Amino acid sequence: MTQTISINQSQRQNLAPLNIPERLLMGPGPANSHPTVLQAMNTTPVGHLDPAFLELMDEIQSLLRYTWQTENPHTIAVSGTGTAAMEATIANSVEPGDVVLVGVVGYFGNRLVDMAGRYGGDVRTITKPWGQVFNLDELRTAMETHRPAILALVHAETSTGARQSLEGVGDLCREFDCLLLIDTVTSLGGVPLFLDEWGVDLAYSCSQKGLCCPPGASPFTMSPRAMEKLQRRQTKVANWYLDMNLLGKYWGGERAYHHTAPINLYYALRESLRLIAEEGIENCWQRHRTNVEYLWQRLEDLGLTLHVEKEFRLPTLTTVRIPEGVDGKAIAKQLLLERGIEIGGGLGELGGKVWRIGLMGFNSRQENVDRLIAELQQVLPR
Ligand SMILES: *Cc1c(COP(=O)(O)O)cnc(C)c1O
Repeated sequence: MTQTISINQSQRQNLAPLNIPERLLMGPGPANSHPTVLQAMNTTPVGHLDPAFLELMDEIQSLLRYTWQTENPHTIAVSGTGTAAMEATIANSVEPGDVVLVGVVGYFGNRLVDMAGRYGGDVRTITKPWGQVFNLDELRTAMETHRPAILALVHAETSTGARQSLEGVGDLCREFDCLLLIDTVTSLGGVPLFLDEWGVDLAYSCSQKGLCCPPGASPFTMSPRAMEKLQRRQTKVANWYLDMNLLGKYWGGERAYHHTAPINLYYALRESLRLIAEEGIENCWQRHRTNVEYLWQRLEDLGLTLHVEKEFRLPTLTTVRIPEGVDGKAIAKQLLLERGIEIGGGLGELGGKVWRIGLMGFNSRQENVDRLIAELQQVLPR
């Protein structure tokens, strides 16, 4: 007789049905999902090779191309969070020994460094204080020094609230015969992005920030130049799950089984991208811009200082300096537990120094700014 593992009486009695508190998610992500996205997610799953599902995948691909402003045929959703899509860009582009130059101005630049090293990249970095970004001259100098095969930059550094300009960077990369890889996790859907015009070769994002979805299905794209490098590889992609040669056969012509897609998350992603198309991507960017400028004004009216210079601030994430003598963590905790609003704290160099306030996707609305400011007024010391 085998002994079954049981739970005791009191554990069983304490198991109430799922009961999640209502929160307004104004931190660095996740953001609240749009109600119709949640509705779409509640639909019965079909098979991952069902023609109806394959059609939905095609729609996801074309809607993603629109949202990113690219014509890349290889534009898909990776099953996993933004980090999985990040790893897909690295796994498919970095071959052992490749020089990978990473611009590090925050937490996510460091994650790229770690990942590229794990795939055998010869990783070099350029850095600036957190909250700043690189100009084209600084990037050119670094390209001359390192001659990389891949330049990786974070378009929207969620740890600092700074936006890296990408204009001219693609041309620079072509001049040096290098691929341009960018993190658009906190920019897709909220910050103007023109992947083709800017000459971006690899990009990734997530579903739970600018796209009004729960986490779990993450946009990923590769340009024809990046595909050529993949096809020239001497070694296999060192990650089976994320190998675009294999994934491409599921998303493309053959429709061969690779893994079971998280069906309901793809329903959600498709609905969120449909909402963006319905609003119009330019209108979506403008809405984020208008609401964040209102947020900045209201925060400054409270006497608070914003961490990033105005020109480089993100419309999706704002870093606010915690005033001298204020316990930043305690304020955030009070907002969450007593007022139902989540904001983020600082990471790395900015740990304990800033709050991070997100206005992403569905959450980028004036009424949310008003509610947050009203609550902040209550909890901040005079
Ligand atoms: C959130 C985030 C990621 C990681 O995405 P996950 O969905 O948490 O895996 C990567 N890069 C940036 C800039 C992010 O903000």
